Amino acid sequence: MKLYSGKMNRLVEELSSLPGIGEKSAGRLADHLIRMPEERVRKLAEAMVDARENVHFCRECFTLTDEELCPVCSNDTRDHDTIMVVEDTRDMQAYEKTGKYTGVYHVLQGAISPMLGIGPNDIKLKELMKRLEGDIKEVIIATNSSLEGETTAMYISKLIKPTGIRVTRIASGVPVGGDLENIDEITLLRALDGRVEL
Ligand code: ZN
Repeated sequence: MKLYSGKMNRLVEELSSLPGIGEKSAGRLADHLIRMPEERVRKLAEAMVDARENVHFCRECFTLTDEELCPVCSNDTRDHDTIMVVEDTRDMQAYEKTGKYTGVYHVLQGAISPMLGIGPNDIKLKELMKRLEGDIKEVIIATNSSLEGETTAMYISKLIKPTGIRVTRIASGVPVGGDLENIDEITLLRALDGRVEL
C-alpha cells in the first residue's frame, strides 16, 4: 500500500514497526509529526537516540537505568534483604508508584514461556540466584498472573526453596492474565500484604 510519498511512507513504516502501533495509528502519528515545529521533532528524535545509547541494565537488579546502580539499589534506606522479583521495569514502576514497598527489586526482563521458546537461561535468573548468595531474608515473587508468569513463579520457588530463604508469592487479587502495570495501587498493595508462602 503506497498512500504517501517515499519519505512519508518510510516514516509510517518505521512507526508501525513499534509494538501496539498499527498502520492507522502510524499514519496519524506521522501526520502529527510533520505538523510539529521542526525543533520539537529534533528534540524527540534526540531523546530516543540518547536513551538508546545510554540506558542499560542496573548492575544489581537489572532494571533499566542510565547510572551504574538504579535509584532504588543505590538507596541505603531501602531493605536490601527483601527482593521483589518482577518481569519488567514497568512492573517495578507500578510497585514504586505505591510508595509503600520498602525492599529492593530484581527485574527478570521477561518470563519463561515454552511456547515462545523462552527458557530460564533467557531471563535474568542466574543473576537472581547470584544475589541470593548474599544476606537475603525474603524473595517476593511478583511475576504477572499469566501462564508465563505463573510458570516462572513455580520455577523460581523450586530453585530457591533448598536455600532456606523465605519465598512468597503476591496474592491473587491481581486478575488472571493481568499485567502489573495496568493494576491500581490499592490492588497491588493488597496483593503484596496478602502474599502467601510458597
Ligand atoms: Zn537496581
